[in-house]
Amino acid sequence: MSSGQGGGELIPLAQPVIGRTDEEAVLEVLRSGQLSLGPRLAEFERAFAGQVGARHASAVSSGTAGLHLAVRAAGVGEGDEVVTSPFSFVASANAVVFERARPVFADIDPVTLNLDPDAAAAAVGERTRALLPVHVFGYPADMPALERLAEARGLAIVEDACEALGAGHRDGPAVGGRGHPAVFGFYANKQLTTGEGGMVCVGEDGLKERIDSERNQGRAPDMGWLDHDRLGFNYRLSELACALGLAQLRRLGSLLEARARVAAAYRQALAGIEGLDLPCPDRDGDVRGWFVFVVQLPAGVDRERTIAALAARGIQSKPYLPAIHLMSFYRETFGHRAGEFPVCEDVAARSLALPFFPQMSEGQVERVGRALGEALGRR
Ligand SMILES: *Cc1c(COP(=O)(O)O)cnc(C)c1O
Repeated sequence: MSSGQGGGELIPLAQPVIGRTDEEAVLEVLRSGQLSLGPRLAEFERAFAGQVGARHASAVSSGTAGLHLAVRAAGVGEGDEVVTSPFSFVASANAVVFERARPVFADIDPVTLNLDPDAAAAAVGERTRALLPVHVFGYPADMPALERLAEARGLAIVEDACEALGAGHRDGPAVGGRGHPAVFGFYANKQLTTGEGGMVCVGEDGLKERIDSERNQGRAPDMGWLDHDRLGFNYRLSELACALGLAQLRRLGSLLEARARVAAAYRQALAGIEGLDLPCPDRDGDVRGWFVFVVQLPAGVDRERTIAALAARGIQSKPYLPAIHLMSFYRETFGHRAGEFPVCEDVAARSLALPFFPQMSEGQVERVGRALGEALGRR
C-alpha cells in the first residue's frame, strides 16, 4: 500500500488487481488453441485444494453454480429444509431453492454476523436435511458448534466460503478444508478472481466424481460425447479462467496481505467516529480472510444521505448486505415479513460497504475516513 494522497479522483468500491503474469498466463492459453477442458483445469484444482488443505477441489463457472452442485452433493432434494443465514448474498439461499428445497433462516450472531448456532439449532425440524453456514465478509462461521449440531441431528453441512478465501478456523483448518462441501467464488471483487468462476472443495472421492460429472452435462470421465448417465449442467470453467486463477493463486499471499493492510489502515482512520461499528477483530484463533470493509452506521443515521454525501466527495459506497428474507421473491414465495430475524434486520439496515481493494493507498483510506466522519457529523 502506498501512502500517496488519494487526491480528488473517484475511489471505487472494488478493483481487481491484474498484473503482467496474469495477462501472460491468459495469452498463453489463447495461443495454445485449447480453450476448455485442458491441463490448467486439473492444475488449478490441485493448487487450490493444496491452498486450503482440502482433499479435492472442482472448478466451476461461478460460486452460485458451485453452491448448486454442493447442495445436490449433500443430498438435498424436493421438500427438504436447509437451515441457513439470512445475512448473505442471495445465491446461498437460491441454491437451495434450485433443488425445490426450502431455505429456513435462523438469526445471526451480532458480533461475527454469521449464523448463530443456537438459533440454527432452534430452526432444525423433521424435514431439515442440511446446514448451510456462510462465512460472511470472510469471517469464519462457528463450525465446531455447527458440526456438533449436525452430528447430533444427522445433518449434512455445505459451506458458503465464497467470501472467505484466506480465512482460518480456531481449531486449525483453513476455511474450506474441513471436509464438507465448501464453495468459493471468483467474481471480480473477490480475493482471487477469474472474472467469473468458483471452486467446490470436498473431502470425499465420490463427491468429487459426482460434482465433476454434474458440471459437465452428467458425463462420466470415461464416457464419449453422447451418453449421459445422470442429469447434469454446463458449469465448466474455461482454460482461460483457470490460467488466470492459477496465476492469481501464486501471489495470493501478497494479495491477502495487501487487503489486511488496508483493513488495518481503516481501523485507524475510523477509530474516532463515535457510534460506528467496525468489522469484528479476529478472536479465539479465528482468522478473517479480508474481502470487504463493511461498517454499521450509528442507529438513526440516514444511510441514503450518507451514501450521497460520500458520492459527492468522489467515494463509492453501498448498502451491503440486504436481508435475504425481506427480498420480494422471498417474501412472496415463502411468506417472510419484517421482524422475524431482528439481529440480521438491524445489521442489514445499518450496513455500509466502503471502498476496499488491495492497491488502495493510505491516503485514499484517510480520505474515506474523513468524508465519513464529516457526513456523520461525528468528529
Ligand atoms: C460472491 C458470493 C457468491 C457467489 O457468487 P457468484 O457471483 O455466483 O460467483 C455466493 N455467496 C456469497 C456469500 C458471495 O459473496
